[in-house]
Parts: sequence; structure tokens; C-alpha cells
Amino acid sequence: MLNKKIPIMIPWMGEEEAAAARRPIMSGWTTQGPEVAAFEKEFAEIAGAKYACAVSNCTTALHLALKAVGVKAGDEVITVSHSFIATANAIRYCNATPVFVDIEPHTFNIDATLIERAITERTKAILCVHQIGMPCDLKAIIEIAKHHSLFVIEDAACAIGSEILWDGKWEKIGKPRGDIACFSFHPRKLISIGDGGMITTLNAEWDKRFRLWRQHSMDVPDTVRHKANEVIFESYTDLGYNYRLTDIQAAVGREQLKRLKAIIERRRMMAERYRESLSRFTGFVLPEELSWARSNWQSYCVRLPAHCDQRTVMQKMLEAGISTRRGVMCIHREPAYPKDLWSCGDEPCECDNGTCNRLMQSELAQDRSILLPLFHQMTEADQEFVVEKLREACA
Ligand SMILES: *Cc1c(COP(=O)(O)O)cnc(C)c1O
Repeated sequence: MLNKKIPIMIPWMGEEEAAAARRPIMSGWTTQGPEVAAFEKEFAEIAGAKYACAVSNCTTALHLALKAVGVKAGDEVITVSHSFIATANAIRYCNATPVFVDIEPHTFNIDATLIERAITERTKAILCVHQIGMPCDLKAIIEIAKHHSLFVIEDAACAIGSEILWDGKWEKIGKPRGDIACFSFHPRKLISIGDGGMITTLNAEWDKRFRLWRQHSMDVPDTVRHKANEVIFESYTDLGYNYRLTDIQAAVGREQLKRLKAIIERRRMMAERYRESLSRFTGFVLPEELSWARSNWQSYCVRLPAHCDQRTVMQKMLEAGISTRRGVMCIHREPAYPKDLWSCGDEPCECDNGTCNRLMQSELAQDRSILLPLFHQMTEADQEFVVEKLREACA
């Protein structure tokens, strides 16, 4: 086992993806074009969504989603601190204020029972996260949002293929049940195209706006002008962005989508294997799916026994050739988030030096848990090795 290296994640791609990238390269049309359109259609089918619009990544997807529901300067958006920093950054791109709500310790997702006290007269939307692929309590969140006339945007960056039980039927995250859902194709997610994002919605008007905004708000797309037999002058109808995906990426994405089912099946099997092996040792708290949630296991997050120091455990594992990561970050602890740029709602919170009395579960989750390697190509022996080394590191 010496010199063996187990990274945290390796995307599963091969000759099929390389061959697909060849298509747009040889065709001469490399940016957003027919491959993007096909990728969107195939993604929409898989998610059960009416509209799917491809963009450059999930961060830009979140920005456009918030903009579409009208989030603007002075507004507040309720979300979690316990997420990748892009979740809250997207709110700040709209000059609005993120309002952080704590998480439930067992799911690492927003504690829906704490949302109502964070609502103020400035609240415009709830940006909920399906963290590390585990569906959050959308039913409860949507009910609260309806009651207070708020929009719900789902940060589903990690949640492609995750499922939620809705009216007795399992359905994919991204239909969406909220107003808009945003996905990522970064290499740490289940399928990857280098970088990329997707926005799903049932609202035709918003979908139209996403398509304009992502391409500089140009009213006649370049694909149309390219094919036209007469001269067409475009105009720019609104402040737009260059948030396009390229056809090279979309061609790869179409191959990746074909692998999704197999990737999820395998990750579920491997998560179960981790659960079986680790449950034999006392002190580890393992992630659990509630009766209405099925994770895609984008990450496998283990809470360490009280006597294990996180950094020491991670260092020992690294020395054994195993990469781990600490629990999901807390945005409110980052230098980019001084206290005047976010809030806990109207009730003041006491926050100092990276501790906040209203975000304790978020902080504990970051400090007391680690993410274990989990990727499609991992073998049973690799997993046994990880479990063995984790046990040793905590002994
Ligand atoms: C990865 C991630 C993002 C950002 O996705 P990009 O495609 O890298 O921009 C946003 N939110 C969450 C929860 C993520 O995990």
C-alpha cells in the first residue's frame, strides 16, 4: 500500500468525452451553439425540468437566478453560512445582504425551524442549499416562503441526481420545486466539464431573461446572424454579461450525462459501504438520509469522535496517502465577510473571532467533521484502506 495516493475526487471521463470535444473543435463553432442547446435539452429531461439554461458556472447561475426574482440593493436573502462561499457571494453581486441561518447537525442543511425568525421586512428570497448532495427540507422551506411571499432559489450545485420524495413519488432535485435551481459542473461535483452551470425553472419569462443576460443581452444571438441570408443588426436591450458555456464543454457534458446514472448508483453503494464499516467504531457520527431524501453522495462527511483533533487526523491520513477535506466552510468566518456585510436578521447575534452564537452548528460542522475520498473509480480495497487509516488516526 506504500506510495498509494487516494485523492478526494477524480472525475470519471474517458475516450467518449475526448471524442465529443472533437466535434465542435472540428466544426469551427466552439462557443455557445448547437451542443449547448442539446446539452440543455438532455439535462432538462433528466431533471424533469421545463426549462434549462446553460451558463459558465454555478456562481453565475446563482447571480442570474437572484437577479431574475428581483433581488436588488437593500434586500436581504436568507441562506446558510455553512456553504461554499459562492452561495453568499452571489447575493452580494446583487448588492443585497446575506442573512445567515444555522444548520441541522445531522443533515448539514438549513434548519427550517430557524428561518422565520430571520425574516425581516427587507427579506426577498430564501437561497437554500442541498449541501454536499443531501436534499434540504424543501417542503418546509417552500411553505414558509409562500406564507411570507418570498422567492425560493435552490443552490443545487452539488445535487445533480439527488432525489426528494414529493407527494409520494421520488423526483430529482431541479424540477424545480422552488422557483429556480442552479447546478455546477466543477470537477468536485458528480459530473464535470471543467467549469459549467445550469439554471432550471418552470417560468418561461425568467428562462428568456437568462438567455439574454448570459450573452450580453444581445437581442439577436450570433447563431442566428451566422445562418441568416440577409444582414441583421443586433441591439443590446439590458445590462448583460458574458456567462456563456462553450460548445466544447457542452459536448463533453452530453457524454457525462450518459454516465450519471452509473455514477450515482456506484456512489450510493460506496456510501453504504462507508456506513457499514465506520458504524463498527464508536464515536463517529455518520451522515443519514431522512425518509424523504436520497443523496447523490457528492461528499461523504463524517463527524469525528470528541477525542480526535481534526487537523491531526487529516495530517495523518495525508501522510498515509489519503486526501481528505475539512467539513464545509463557514462563510461568516472568512475575511471577505466582515460582520457589517451580513446579518442574522433583526435580532442581533454575538459574533467575534470566528464564533457566532447563532451559527454554532455551522461552526461545529466545519471544525468537527471531515470529508472522505469518494469517486467512481475507487475500489473496495481503497475504501477499506481509508477506513483503516481513519480508525488508526483517531485511535
Ligand atoms: C461548487 C458550489 C458552488 C459554485 O459552483 P461553481 O460552478 O464552481 O461556480 C456554489 N454553491 C455550492 C453549494 C457549491 O458546492
